[in-house]
Amino acid sequence: MVDTQNDKVSQLVALCKRRGIVFQNSEIYGGISGFYDYGPVGSQMKRNWKNLWWHDNIETRLDVLGIDGTIITHPKVWQASGHVKNFADAMVECKKCHKRFRPDLLDDPKKCPECSGTFTKPKKYNILFETDIGVIEGEKTHAYLRGEACQNIYLNFKNVVDSTRIKIPFGIAQIGKAFRNEINPKNFLYRTREFEQWDIQYFVKSEDMDKWYEYWKQNRLTWYQKFFNHQDSLRFRQHQKDELAFYAKKAFDIEYHTPWGWAEMEGIHWRADYDLSQHSRFSGQDLSYLDPTDNSKYIPHIVECSGGVDRSFFYLLLDAYTKEKLENGQTRTLLKLHPQVSAYKMAIFPLATNKPELVSLAKKIFQKLSASYPVDWDDSSNIGKKYRRQDEIGTPWCLVVDFQTLDDNTVTIRHRDSMKQERLKIDQVDSWLQKKLN
Ligand code: ATP
Repeated sequence: MVDTQNDKVSQLVALCKRRGIVFQNSEIYGGISGFYDYGPVGSQMKRNWKNLWWHDNIETRLDVLGIDGTIITHPKVWQASGHVKNFADAMVECKKCHKRFRPDLLDDPKKCPECSGTFTKPKKYNILFETDIGVIEGEKTHAYLRGEACQNIYLNFKNVVDSTRIKIPFGIAQIGKAFRNEINPKNFLYRTREFEQWDIQYFVKSEDMDKWYEYWKQNRLTWYQKFFNHQDSLRFRQHQKDELAFYAKKAFDIEYHTPWGWAEMEGIHWRADYDLSQHSRFSGQDLSYLDPTDNSKYIPHIVECSGGVDRSFFYLLLDAYTKEKLENGQTRTLLKLHPQVSAYKMAIFPLATNKPELVSLAKKIFQKLSASYPVDWDDSSNIGKKYRRQDEIGTPWCLVVDFQTLDDNTVTIRHRDSMKQERLKIDQVDSWLQKKLN
């Protein structure tokens, strides 16, 4: 299910399983392609990643409001959006083994990579997941799992304006699941069939589109740059003329340099008035905006920033994944994650587990810190193994209660990246950590 061709990817996938970050879904049944579960460590990391986005784009801005919409909507939504008609990938089928492939992703578009058979002509397959609403046969309504999360934003545009009186320019943002029956799910969390997206739809006057487009394009790249170690692994890619939707003046992707080449992380799209006009037309409701500044009435234009939560999280892990040769000849594996993304901000250990004084003092410190931060506790095995585990899940600092602690109330703080150690008074740890995290 995972592309094991790639060394770094397969090593990271193994680490994710070993340390409870991400698991193959339904693994005990042999797995199911394109679906993954987050484990105890990964679910905490992913939650942090989403909280950072929510905090920076919604909580700290007066002009962007959050919503949380459903996965199933009125089926007409997907007719209006064009997904029922156009959300299709062209595929070829091998005449010998009958497996299907996207021709644009094949190394050799003439021969089947599985059995060297030849292909049929490309045919289009819709990738919306379908379902039914209702329980009585004959009375069920055919519906879709949303193929992109952003449609709920357009559906609630009028509700948000009416309930909040927010004025243009403003944005509506959302994080939520999307479902695509991808033909070739691949590369771990990169292309899956169930994933989360984060969207900002920013509504502006048509004459202000250029200004706001450039603003969001830069804003989103700068945001990602804060969390990635390798800045040269992030770039913009401008869409060619033939890739542009008919209403788009321009489009850029923010891309990450993956082990299999540059790949999309987030799209910055010029949506013009397409989405609200379509929904006005299909629903028969007037979705225009009455501008209180000059009493003009118009359908707002939209700058869209649409990114993948799981995909960008995977890129973060790839960016953080580091192997280092130590002086003793051994290799150390670590995730150099931004502390705000790490599952635990600190891990607390007693140096020796058979010394009750050390264990109980360490427990006390754990209890105090865990009230304010996610912290980990480990009183198993030897200190080297404890450090190794924390390095592999990207915990930025470890705190060790040792024999000196009993004499002078200081503890050892060990830094993940440099492995340097320093001593701190127990009652200074809280403020030290707070400072580090800010
Ligand atoms: P791609 O060309 O890679 O399939 P897309 O252009 O279809 O992506 P959008 O529809 O613009 O993607 O969706 C916005 C974001 O959602 C993408 O930038 C990506 O991060 C994420 N995304 C899209 N499809 C998937 C998928 N199958 N699995 C994981 N993330 C996805």
